[in-house]
Amino acid sequence: MKIGILSRKSTIYSTNSLVEAAKKRGHFVSVIDPLRCYMDITSHHPAIHYKGEKLEGFDAIIPRIGASITFYGTAVVRQFEMMGVYCVNESVAISRSRDKLRSLQLLARKGIGLPVTGFAHSTKFTDDLISMVGGAPLVVKMIEGTQGVGVVLAETQQAAQSVIQAFRSLKANILVQEFIQESRGSDIRCWVIGSKVVAAMKRQGPEGEFRSNLHRGGQAARIKITPEERSTAIRAAKIMGLRVAGVDLLRSNHGPVVMEVNSSPGLKGIETITGIDVAGMVISYIEKNACPGKTGTKGKG
Ligand code: ADP
Ligand code: MG
Repeated sequence: MKIGILSRKSTIYSTNSLVEAAKKRGHFVSVIDPLRCYMDITSHHPAIHYKGEKLEGFDAIIPRIGASITFYGTAVVRQFEMMGVYCVNESVAISRSRDKLRSLQLLARKGIGLPVTGFAHSTKFTDDLISMVGGAPLVVKMIEGTQGVGVVLAETQQAAQSVIQAFRSLKANILVQEFIQESRGSDIRCWVIGSKVVAAMKRQGPEGEFRSNLHRGGQAARIKITPEERSTAIRAAKIMGLRVAGVDLLRSNHGPVVMEVNSSPGLKGIETITGIDVAGMVISYIEKNACPGKTGTKGKG
């Protein structure tokens, strides 16, 4: 097969891991920087040009779109979809997962366990917003944050009010969320491919840190997940429309709650900790499922 990986750099661990896995299975693979793609969207034959040439003959695309380039990156994925190329994660699903509010609303609608979450535009009734989600301590987070940046724990009512007001005065869109204290600074990353959790790990933030992000100094460890956690992760990925996803769960007193669903989950931590060839499993999923023109959301925004 001819597989394209949409990624800024081939030296990124996850990108490199996918390249090696594809080569090992005898595929032709190339890394395409989405920001260097330019597109012909006016003709009856939609095309993508790259470095002076037309991109042709791809059987599958693996989008690895970083949060900082969601807008242009998803436009490139959409263009591949218009060309009938199979994209492992489709553009609509990627955009959806980048918006925490939109994601949580979709998950809530289908009855997935979530931390109690509130959202407001105005700061007029911040007191009521805070009591609506159960009062302090609570977590305030930016809608489009990533790697733990823009996620704040407000321990008191006053702290919560100031943080909410500060974010809103900067015009940042935020969520206000029940603090799941009982997870003690840890979360569970479930790597979902198709309808299976292929690997999972526990991430624990450093002493005194409630955020478990590896980018914030969190440590990863092996973990055995429960059947309920497994089915929650699989359902969450499916609701988001992601065939490949990193579903982050917290163990709460009221069962597993989903914190977010990532469309380009990293491979380094999960492969190192579990020893599982996750990249190889992504490629073998593509071998079984890639089919031209099989875009579920063709032509949809
Ligand atoms: P990001 O997209 O920046 O990773 P997350 O929503 O995943 O944002 O939050 C970052 C980390 O903060 C999580 O991995 C988790 O450890 C912690 N966290 C976030 N929300 C909560 C919450 N409601 N209760 C407890 N811990 C939380
Ligand atoms: Mg996260």
